[in-house]
Parts: sequence; C-alpha cells; structure tokens
Amino acid sequence: MIIEPKVRGFICTTAHPDGCRENVKQQIEYVKSRGRMEGPSKVLVIGGSTGYGLASRIAAAFGCGAATLGIMFEKVATEKRTATPGWYNTMAFEGFAEEDGLYARTLNGDAFSMEMKEQTVQAIREDLGQIDMVIYSLAAPRRTMPDGTVYSSVLKTTNGIFTNKSLNLRNNQIEEASISPASQEETAATVKVMGGEDWMDWMRVLSRAGVLAPHFKTLAYSYIGPELTYPVYYEGTIGMAKQHLCETARKINQEIPGAEALVSVNKALVTQASSAIPIVPLYMAILYHVMKEKGLHEGCIQQMDRLFREKLAGQAETDGSGLIRLDDYEMREDVQSEVMRLWEVVNTENLRQCADLEGYWEDFYHMFGFGFENVDYTRDVPLT
Ligand code: NAD
Repeated sequence: MIIEPKVRGFICTTAHPDGCRENVKQQIEYVKSRGRMEGPSKVLVIGGSTGYGLASRIAAAFGCGAATLGIMFEKVATEKRTATPGWYNTMAFEGFAEEDGLYARTLNGDAFSMEMKEQTVQAIREDLGQIDMVIYSLAAPRRTMPDGTVYSSVLKTTNGIFTNKSLNLRNNQIEEASISPASQEETAATVKVMGGEDWMDWMRVLSRAGVLAPHFKTLAYSYIGPELTYPVYYEGTIGMAKQHLCETARKINQEIPGAEALVSVNKALVTQASSAIPIVPLYMAILYHVMKEKGLHEGCIQQMDRLFREKLAGQAETDGSGLIRLDDYEMREDVQSEVMRLWEVVNTENLRQCADLEGYWEDFYHMFGFGFENVDYTRDVPLT
C-alpha cells in the first residue's frame, strides 16, 4: 500500500513505518552526537513509544547505554489499516538497539491493568533482575479500573468559561474558542486518569516484587506554562491531575524504600497528547517562532537528552518546590514577553509572521512518520 497522511483535525489516522523509523533514527543520532553520559543502567519506561517517553528511552539507551523495558498501548497493522506510530517507532527502536548490542524489550497492553504490572515484574525478573530507573510518561484518554469502571479525562477549566484565541487546525484560521468548566465528577475522573494514583500503584507492585534496585530514581512529567494557558492547563482539569502527580512523588519518597521520586516540568511540544488541548496549539506555534528566533528551541529528544545529561547527573537539579525545570528556556522572561506580545496581535492574516505554523505542522507530520525528505513515500509498503 502507498501510505499517505489522513489528517482529521488534531489526529492523523495513518502512520508510515519508514518515516517513523527515520524519526527514531534522527533522535538516536542526536543523542549519539552528544556523546556518552553517566546515568541509569536498567530502565523501565511506562508510555515509551511516542513523545517524551520515547525520547527518554532513546536518551537512556543510546546516551547512557541502559537496558530498557518499554510499556506502550499501540495497535498493530491490519490488512486495511497501518499500525499506530508508537508501534512503528518501537519496532525501529528495538532494531537499532539490537544493532548496538543494547537490551530492549517492549510489552504492549494497558499499563493501568494489574496484568500488565505483573507481566512487567515477570519480564524484569527474567531479564534484568532489578531496575534503577522508572519513567512514568503515560498520556491516556481513559483508565479502566479492575472492576470495569471507566474514567475519562477531559480538558476543561475548573472555574468558569474561558474564551481566547485559538488555531483551528482544520483550516489554519485564528478563531475564538471557549472552554467550558468541568463538573466535579469530570475533574475527579481526570485526576484518576492523569494523576499519580497509577504511578503509585506501579511503584508499590515493583517494590513488593523486589525488582527495584536499593537506590533508584522514578520520574513523571508535568507542565506548567504561562498564565495565558492557566485556565485550560495549570488551573484546569489536567492541572489538577498534575498537582496530584506532584503529591504522589512526595508519597513515593516517603513510602517506597530507596526511592528518589521526581517530577520534571517539560517544555510545551507538539505530541499526540498536546495537540488535543484547545488554545495550546496556537501558543505552541508562537512559542516555536520565538524560541527558534532566539536559538533556544528544543524538541522532545533535546529536552530528554538535557534531562539526563544536566538535570539528573549526580544530585538532581531541582527548583525550590523540588521540581526539575526543563521548561527553563520556555519560561525565560524575554521569551514569554515576546510570546505575549505576538499573542495580542496574531490573526489569520499575520499568522505566518507571528507563529511558526510550518514548524508546528512539520512536528505534527513527523510524529506520524510523514514529511521526511529522505523517505520514499511512493514505496509500496506491505502492511502486515
Ligand atoms: P504521547 O501521547 O506522545 O505519549 C503517550 C504514551 O503513553 C505512549 O507511549 C502511549 O502508548 C502510552 N499510553 C497511553 N495510554 C496507555 C495505556 N493505557 N497503557 C500503556 N501505555 C499507554 O504523550 P506525551 O506528550 O509524550 O506525554 C507524556 C507525558 O509528558 C504526559 O504526562 C504529559 O502530560 C507530559 N508532558 C507533555 C508535554 C507536551 O507538551 N507534550 C509537556 C510537558 C509534560
């Protein structure tokens, strides 16, 4: 089949295996170009097939030489449909790891389930003995509980309607978007899905099974961003979940022997999870424009490489609240004041002068394996 992108708003329903491979290859090459670094030796990455989790896995493996076990929830190809990008990314990752003599194994299934946690324990016992780092990088729309109850996360405010400029991803027009407030149940459900409860469950299961090294690190990822996006992010339903994640880090430190639990606040980047948030894509397109002009722009792999190389080496570098700040460049005063200036004036006509629309879409297509110059998209690709 000749695979072409089929974009529906903020999602692309096809993925290209060769392009996904190229995406992974470029990330590996970046990390290798920066040289080897000290770091963990056996790493579990929960949510390691796309975005920040994949980049963490690549930095740990190809930067630190770590053995990696990945958990993902991805779909394989059928006769009619391509696999999801995370599937192709992972196949490529495992291939490159094997070429370099690095252990890499991946389990595909629901990380929220007890079965997946038990399978993971089994895999660690079989192959690794004990692990010295656990990265929790899930971004999930819903969580099924053991009794079958399903909680769905929503991206809403917690305090009244929020109206602001937004980029309509279907036609690249600037419009006004309104985000409605969540009910208490919706907020609680979002915390269930994207908060720290499942992270804690993982740590308890791994600790009880004795598969954690005497001293180990565990990390989860968060976002804060500027006041502009507070109603939809930091003070919205997702922000409540992230607050719970931070509380969970403290709880893990108290409860799990040998743990150093950390939350890293990362930069806003185009990923499958973030392009679904209203108003945020326009902020990201303007942010890309400003950060590229200032030579400060980073993608997932640059962020995760910096995390391992600079923020986690030796004593973890944290702010006054104990958070790792990889959003330090994004939140710089000169960056934010320029973003806010452009936000005030941006409209459909001047969009390309104020925002890096090309960069936004380039990242978007790359996520699904499209838009790489050195990939032959006319190739007839066997799907299964
Ligand atoms: P992503 O959508 O690229 O990755 C999500 C990962 O979770 C994938 O590997 C997917 O397979 C896995 N996953 C989802 N549901 C699963 C399930 N039920 N079982 C097993 N695996 C499952 O998302 P991302 O943007 O890389 O987000 C990762 C983390 O980083 C999230 O906590 C997110 O809030 C945080 N973060 C993202 C940004 C951003 O701008 N993208 C910024 C800061 C922090």
